[in-house]
Amino acid sequence: MAEQNLFEEVKRHLCSCSADLQITPNLEAVMKLPMRELHVSIPVRMDDGSLRAFSGFRVQYNDALGPTKGGIRFHPDETIDTIRGLAAIMTWKCALHNLPLGGAKGGVICNPKKMSQGEIERLSRAYIQAISHFIGPDRDIPAPDVYTDSSVMAWMMDEYSRIFRKTTFGVITGKPLSLGGSEGREDATARGGWFIVREAVKDLGIILEGARVAVQGFGNVGSHAARIGQGEYSVQVVAVSDSSGGVYAKDGLDIRALLDHKEKTGSVRDFSGARNITNEELIGLDVDILIPAALENVITLDNASQVRARLIAEFANGPVSGDADALLHARGIPILPDILCNGGGVIVSYLEMVQNFNLDHWEGEEVNRRLEKKMVDAYKVVHDLASRNHVPMRQAAYTIAVGRVVKAMKYRGWV
Ligand code: GLU
Repeated sequence: MAEQNLFEEVKRHLCSCSADLQITPNLEAVMKLPMRELHVSIPVRMDDGSLRAFSGFRVQYNDALGPTKGGIRFHPDETIDTIRGLAAIMTWKCALHNLPLGGAKGGVICNPKKMSQGEIERLSRAYIQAISHFIGPDRDIPAPDVYTDSSVMAWMMDEYSRIFRKTTFGVITGKPLSLGGSEGREDATARGGWFIVREAVKDLGIILEGARVAVQGFGNVGSHAARIGQGEYSVQVVAVSDSSGGVYAKDGLDIRALLDHKEKTGSVRDFSGARNITNEELIGLDVDILIPAALENVITLDNASQVRARLIAEFANGPVSGDADALLHARGIPILPDILCNGGGVIVSYLEMVQNFNLDHWEGEEVNRRLEKKMVDAYKVVHDLASRNHVPMRQAAYTIAVGRVVKAMKYRGWV
């Protein structure tokens, strides 16, 4: 598979709306660079007594609209350019959903699957020590992302609070419920994504009940996407996959049983009544809706021509490469872009911040009601602009988001 550079891909999306927004080449050059980034080396004592140095980053892409916001990933293949691309995506995502936040992302090159809980805790704390003066509740607020969860957020919040000698819930979101976390944060990305799909299928003439769905990825986003799709929208989830491969069942998988199976065996493979398939086979399945919900650049020029879905909903960040995006558009397959579709996570993170600032805790219904409104509002403006200008939804979404950031930069007198 061709190596794709996410940062370059995201910059191309930015260029797609420059003409519409009358962005000058000089301003475009400014917008193509992250405002600040920190590279850290993190020494961690391993369980066997040895000392290992991990590399970590935090990129604050643009803070014109407010303090920067974005997750922290722990992944063995992490690169600074992926983090830059993801930080840019966060900037456009927060702007599109009208949040008073800029965009950031962090990452540590490590393989948490091969580390003990103690090692992950020490790494999490050491990373926060290394970046503690770069972040803060009104400066830059991290959150969970690939291979980081609420336990990691709790350690990080605790470490930050120790350094500054006061409990600071608002420094990080996605925390456990008993430590300043919000109801609904755990499945917010998936729940938000389904609100977008629900609205989009009405415009596309696809009936959701009984629709055949394939979900690529069975982590925090993918597993909730499959569960909510089946349980609340009565779709038929015919295939899911994780990093070890996938499973397919013509008449639909029982997602609750599959979750138990994954819990017991560590993977979705060899699930009774289902056939093992590869991740590549999943991408090419004859389904109504394909939901990439794992990593970036999984649909590329190498496999885009095999896609047979009627709709792609990007629950992951950057799952479709720029070239594949153009090819799928030419083939008439609509894509619900990441900055629109997966904004639910950061929306509920923002709601968590609001609760933390007020030392409050809202009911789940309140959180989900606000989430639904924000998602549906964003869908409407993106869909309206895409129809009016006859452009793909991604281009419309970027035009709205980048336009808002540029306006804020102008008001601030930066450009
Ligand atoms: N990691 C999530 C994302 O990519 C959520 C970020 C956040 O909650 O700040 O959107």
